[in-house]
Amino acid sequence: MPGRHHWQHRFRENVSRWTLPREIILDLLSRSSRHMSAKEIYGALYALYPGLGLTTVYRTLELLHRLGFVQKVTSGDGPGRYELRGEGEKDHHHHLICTKCGRIIDYRDFVQEELDLIKKTEETLAKKHNFLIQDHNIEFLGLCEKCR
Ligand SMILES: [Zn+2]
Ligand SMILES: [Zn+2]
Ligand SMILES: [Zn+2]
Repeated sequence: MPGRHHWQHRFRENVSRWTLPREIILDLLSRSSRHMSAKEIYGALYALYPGLGLTTVYRTLELLHRLGFVQKVTSGDGPGRYELRGEGEKDHHHHLICTKCGRIIDYRDFVQEELDLIKKTEETLAKKHNFLIQDHNIEFLGLCEKCR
């Protein structure tokens, strides 16, 4: 894909142009307890930074996602939602996603069986595909309390 190379090149050339969106988006996400879509992020920042475009928000989020700063939650056919990725294991959580209203529930109170199963699954997959697993992203789709 020629896009990626081109993008990296541009990024290097225009560091300052891209650093501001990065910083304000990371700052917003660090103050938010919600999982926000690109449009919501744009809506929250637009008044303060009128020069910011929606396209820039999308691109910046994808970049931050690739760099590992934010986690992306894809809620069914709704828009992708983003949240700040915490440091290390402490903030690690899984998601319950309501496919009707889009509500996203974080859970960290894992049962031991779940942790064991994930560990075993990762070990098996790593061996089978000779794949170095560095992380996982677990989402359960369904209906929340209000929508069911
Ligand atoms: Zn996990
Ligand atoms: Zn719901
Ligand atoms: Zn989350």
